[in-house]
Amino acid sequence: MEQLFSHTKIVATLGPATPTEDSLRELLEAGVNVCRINFSHGTIEQHAETLARVRRISAELGRAIAVLGDLCGPKIRLNTVADGIALETGQDVTFVRGDAVTKDAKTLTISYPQFVDEVNVGERVYIDDGLVRLLVTDREPDAIRCRCTVGGPISSRKGVNLPDTKLSVSAITDKDRADARWAIESGLDYVALSFVRTPADLAELRSHMASIGTPIPVIVKIEKTEALDYLDEFIAAADGVMIARGDLGVEMDIWRVPLVQKVIAQKCRAAGKPVIVATQMLQSMVGNPSPTRAEVSDVANAILDGTDAVMLSAESASGQYPIQSVVMMRRIAIAAEAYLAKHGREDVTGTVAASDRITSAISHGAIESARHLGAKLVAAWTSSGNTVRLLAKYRLDVPVVGLTSDIDVFRRLALLFGVIPIQVPGSSNPAEMAQTLDRVLLEKDLAQVGDLVIVVTSTNPHVKGKTDATLVHRVAKLQ
Ligand code: PEP
Repeated sequence: MEQLFSHTKIVATLGPATPTEDSLRELLEAGVNVCRINFSHGTIEQHAETLARVRRISAELGRAIAVLGDLCGPKIRLNTVADGIALETGQDVTFVRGDAVTKDAKTLTISYPQFVDEVNVGERVYIDDGLVRLLVTDREPDAIRCRCTVGGPISSRKGVNLPDTKLSVSAITDKDRADARWAIESGLDYVALSFVRTPADLAELRSHMASIGTPIPVIVKIEKTEALDYLDEFIAAADGVMIARGDLGVEMDIWRVPLVQKVIAQKCRAAGKPVIVATQMLQSMVGNPSPTRAEVSDVANAILDGTDAVMLSAESASGQYPIQSVVMMRRIAIAAEAYLAKHGREDVTGTVAASDRITSAISHGAIESARHLGAKLVAAWTSSGNTVRLLAKYRLDVPVVGLTSDIDVFRRLALLFGVIPIQVPGSSNPAEMAQTLDRVLLEKDLAQVGDLVIVVTSTNPHVKGKTDATLVHRVAKLQ
């Protein structure tokens, strides 16, 4: 029977490709760990329906599936454009203030009101992921003149990137605030924040969420070059990072993106923060049942780079082969992980937050014991998920079982490399905890009687966040 489990986690963007609960169930059964709701598309009513379905299916499957809400951020777009308009290479184009419909190729309007005030002569303006390119040649009080350097068709709401311009736009729009409120009120597991530039953007979202209710962990999307200047600060402050290669590949030289991916993945691993590699991973599967060799290589290389998760965008959201895309990703992941298990991977060193030092030291010791003793798996009791996060960074070849009584933590653990989340009744009695561990490992066929497992726990289990002990445990017969 085909192996259904890969250590690398699969994030699938949801959309019209799975219009019914049955089609969504098939997608999730194929091996999805995290569902991404993209707030750039669809209505809140549709998102609520999708969320309810994911929750029902994940309860049926008895498997943790996290839901990530991706906030659009200040994505700049063309306003409405009449049908059939194309810009010609070499022609002059003028951007004017306002939101008038673009009726010809000469005069355009854009969704960002300060555009005319903030771009400068010599800066680049990219439309539709850089398929159409302009260079600013002149500024007037109410207009910006450009020369088209690469022509092509344009249409309504196409994205605009300004890779050279320092924008004053706030990182969080009114729509993001409303979407973040819905995410909190609906109990989403993660939110992703697009187009961050400085860590202040993340702080602004956190403070907005704190004013509404219990904040949700935030994944920052690295897609602007300015964000790369603050990479270490972002990794320290965020709950995870997405390498959003779509916009990043427009904002910077595309040929440098694979190298930036390596640096970000390595730094996130060292810090014990989850990292997702995103965009165009199996792009040709939007319309074809099998991927290109280059795409397969891309997914495998992201795993060799040490990512926690690989992401499907249009492939699973609107493509013709969503389930095949998930299956393909899982197969690539299993093969890449087998290679790493055989040839080994680089260990990481790096500093963790001061508050995590003890947990980090215990986790490191547990990993060394597991390797030394050839343990079947590592199991960790966790109330916040922190201990499991600090174990996952070592990318063990055997699973890390995360035991928690908290449903939110249970779901969030689904994003972490190699982690199998299991929800168990809360307990602070060591004998009872050992029995619970044996029961779930045997029930889920994760271990056999007599198998040696390493347990990360606390000598004070009733106090939260006090991981301080590693046990070597042999799985015992149920009494
Ligand atoms: C990206 O740009 O790679 C990305 C993931 O963001 P979005 O899909 O929102 O454009």
